[in-house]
Amino acid sequence: MSFVPEYNEEIVRCMKCGNCQEACPVYIVTGKESRVARGRIRLIKAVIREEIEITDSVQESLLTCLQCDACRITCPPGVPVNDLLLAAKAAMLEKGKNLPESQDNLRVSIIHEANPFLQKKGERGAWLPPEYKTPKPAPYLIHAGCAISYSQNRIGKAVIRILESIGLDFTLLGDLEECCGDPLIRMGAKKEAEKQINRNKEEWKKLGVKYVVTPCAGCFKALKEHYSDAIIPLHVVQLFSQLIKEGKLRFSKPFKKKVIYFDGCDIGRHGKVFEEPRDVLRAIPELTLMEFPKNRENAVCCGGPLLGSYPDLAKKIAAGRVREAESLGAEVLVVACPTCLLNLKEGAREVGLKLDIQDINAILIRTL
Ligand code: SF4
Ligand code: SF4
Repeated sequence: MSFVPEYNEEIVRCMKCGNCQEACPVYIVTGKESRVARGRIRLIKAVIREEIEITDSVQESLLTCLQCDACRITCPPGVPVNDLLLAAKAAMLEKGKNLPESQDNLRVSIIHEANPFLQKKGERGAWLPPEYKTPKPAPYLIHAGCAISYSQNRIGKAVIRILESIGLDFTLLGDLEECCGDPLIRMGAKKEAEKQINRNKEEWKKLGVKYVVTPCAGCFKALKEHYSDAIIPLHVVQLFSQLIKEGKLRFSKPFKKKVIYFDGCDIGRHGKVFEEPRDVLRAIPELTLMEFPKNRENAVCCGGPLLGSYPDLAKKIAAGRVREAESLGAEVLVVACPTCLLNLKEGAREVGLKLDIQDINAILIRTL
């Protein structure tokens, strides 16, 4: 039986040292070998050798990977665990191992309604101010993403107001916008994601869009990986950082708090955007910027990618990040991703932590 044959060599490189344990947020909270890179690779090997079938527990082992890429940093031979597990998830689907029902509902919702929130596609742009409901030709387009369109509207509205304040010529797709494709790819449904990616590209082409700007770290990762042939992808903090340097964007009101910035994996380790969010926060008068001991490339995932599929696990991981921020004396935990925001808030609520958790755009709009 062939299973991820393109990764046979990489699988052999795993020397079973276990260094991935200290890096893996899922292993840290579960302590289970089937929830860490080494254990997952061992299961994949057993499937390749036809020693085991793709059972529900094998599937769950792979689906509980956050694709956070943290284990790559501590892995001596540099096994590309992230890519290997994505390929294994896709191979499971191809071999007829369907997703568990709760996750399959999300997959179907993305395919038919272009979002994983089980909401209607025709209501995607309902949050937009009337003047932005209809797309128009423009050099910049804001890709709001599913989380902002259906749940975290405040972030999208803040971005619109900040960009209006500097007179940028931008548009949005509103109801025509579709999921970026990243959630489908994470589930292994790569072919279905490609259709969605192409539909977004077609709409942008009609409007002559050159830059696609997003406040969502997950969408930003997808834009970089799957859309760079059609547009120039930017996370909003990159655009803001540039505008600050050019003297076009200023924050005049003080924010006298100790703020700790959380490097979400999709903007940080995957997207390699580390300095810009910090530059933006440093531009706010009287703000004190703090750091997690494990930050930038070494940051520990908040668990957000599992919030829809394994919410208890996701919230447990999130609570760890919030507890750490609190113990360091931070007054505000700031993120640049609506999924990190949602999950960290859920995790904090679950264990009764009261730390103020904010998206960076919510701080910026208060200090503009
Ligand atoms: S990518 Fe993240 S969640 Fe997956 S095995 Fe590596 S460290 Fe663990
Ligand atoms: S750190 Fe790398 S080589 Fe070591 S067990 Fe984990 S995946 Fe295998």
